[in-house]
Amino acid sequence: MNAVVKPELESRTASFLSRTHKLFINNEWVEPESGKAIDVINPATGKVFARAAAGGAADIDKAVRAARAAFESGPWPSMPPIERAQLIWKLADAVEAAADEIGYILSLDNGMPMMMAKFAGALGTARNLRYMAGWCGKIDGAVPTTAEPNKLAYTLKDPVGVVGAITPWNFPFAMEADKVGQAMASGCTLVLKPAELTPLGAILLARLVQEAGIPPGVINIVTGYGDPAGKALVEHPDVDKITFTGSTATGKWIVQAAAATLKRVTLELGGKSPTFIFPDADLERAIPGAAMSVFANAGQICVAGSRLYVHKKVFDQVVEGVSGMAKRLKVGPGLEPDSQMGPLISQRQLERVTGYIESGKTEGAQVVVGGGRRAGEGYFLNPTVLAQTHRSMKVMREEIFGPVVCAMPMDDDDLDRIAKIANDTTYGLSAYIWSRDVSIVHKLARKIKAGTVQVNGGVGLDPAVPFGGYKQSGWGRERGRDGIESLTETKAIGISL
Ligand code: ADP
Repeated sequence: MNAVVKPELESRTASFLSRTHKLFINNEWVEPESGKAIDVINPATGKVFARAAAGGAADIDKAVRAARAAFESGPWPSMPPIERAQLIWKLADAVEAAADEIGYILSLDNGMPMMMAKFAGALGTARNLRYMAGWCGKIDGAVPTTAEPNKLAYTLKDPVGVVGAITPWNFPFAMEADKVGQAMASGCTLVLKPAELTPLGAILLARLVQEAGIPPGVINIVTGYGDPAGKALVEHPDVDKITFTGSTATGKWIVQAAAATLKRVTLELGGKSPTFIFPDADLERAIPGAAMSVFANAGQICVAGSRLYVHKKVFDQVVEGVSGMAKRLKVGPGLEPDSQMGPLISQRQLERVTGYIESGKTEGAQVVVGGGRRAGEGYFLNPTVLAQTHRSMKVMREEIFGPVVCAMPMDDDDLDRIAKIANDTTYGLSAYIWSRDVSIVHKLARKIKAGTVQVNGGVGLDPAVPFGGYKQSGWGRERGRDGIESLTETKAIGISL
């Protein structure tokens, strides 16, 4: 790593990694009621390397009470927006200052390459927090023109209240900090339940929340399993809103459970996103773009472009290019400086993904490259390209969440038929178009039913750009104005003059 060498980081993080972490409630570190801990496994070795508290329903209740108290009284509800913004900036500064440690620990926790963890995980997060800080003083209502004269109406955007955030394991820290930034900017308080497989990012975040001087109870972090901790958060009667990122199956369960109290719910779920490469595309960019949209983070990305449709004129060239990249990618532990792709998160995930590859083979797909695990310890899988795939195959219909791309030739120039292919899925999270023809790009983008359409590389996950899905990819949007407003209630005030 740049200026900081690994042995130094090892000694700097040794005491953090050696203790059993507690829960962070009301800015204090507290033992879980159960007295139990989660063994955290390093996916590059399969061995336990840290321990975090296994919170349960009683701990969630304690955290929700703290968040409620901070929302109703204390400095938070009456703090001028500019001071809230300053606190978010302080948090961003603290994240930036700790970027090396965050990168190192995230790489152990999740397996991702350390540089990716540092740049996307920590420094990207600091940037997103600063963007969110800008919203604090800009959450405006409106003055509707009333139907009758001598009346005045205006709207206020009130913070929704206590937010329960539940996050997955694929981008620990970044995912959690995004939810923290949005909750703080909108004036809410938050109880966060990170994924049990990767609890350390959230614990690091709690330390930085404390360091930044954010008032007690505003951000509370309860590590624990989906059941009981996540479940208790969703079922808690004093939580106003759940913001969830994770699997579609758990999202469906959350909707049912939230119905009992009619909580507001935002869901960012799975995807089966298509990539379309047209013959006029800049292939020098399209080939690595298409490859890395699936191989980055070992394919454990909800927006993975896992269905690759390439115009028949350039199909062989693109498949060869993507397969070449797959072969050349250096797969290895995230802490090795030249690793470009780390392991999958768990043995279970490795089995799931290899199961999909096997099912593809059984259904007639051809493995162009990869297809197997790497020998030795850890949950490593070689990047895989499948060809001769068909829309009816399981690999084409279900989210794989691994480094597996299914390539198909496209021998059609009719955009309605191409859009039909894009929309031939229960998901609608993202789509990718590679073409230099503005007419194709804009027409097709309008026809695709997905929350995000990225063209020629697009903008990635920009904090200013709303993110979320159509269909079974979710409800609502995070980021940008939409994200902020999703954490507010609109109050209309009517006055007879
Ligand atoms: P995966 O199956 O890939 O682990 P999940 O959607 O189950 O993905 O996990 C995402 C997050 O949802 C994790 O923090 C997990 O603990 C949480 N979770 C799982 N089950 C539930 C549940 N019943 N209620 C609330 N949260 C849950």
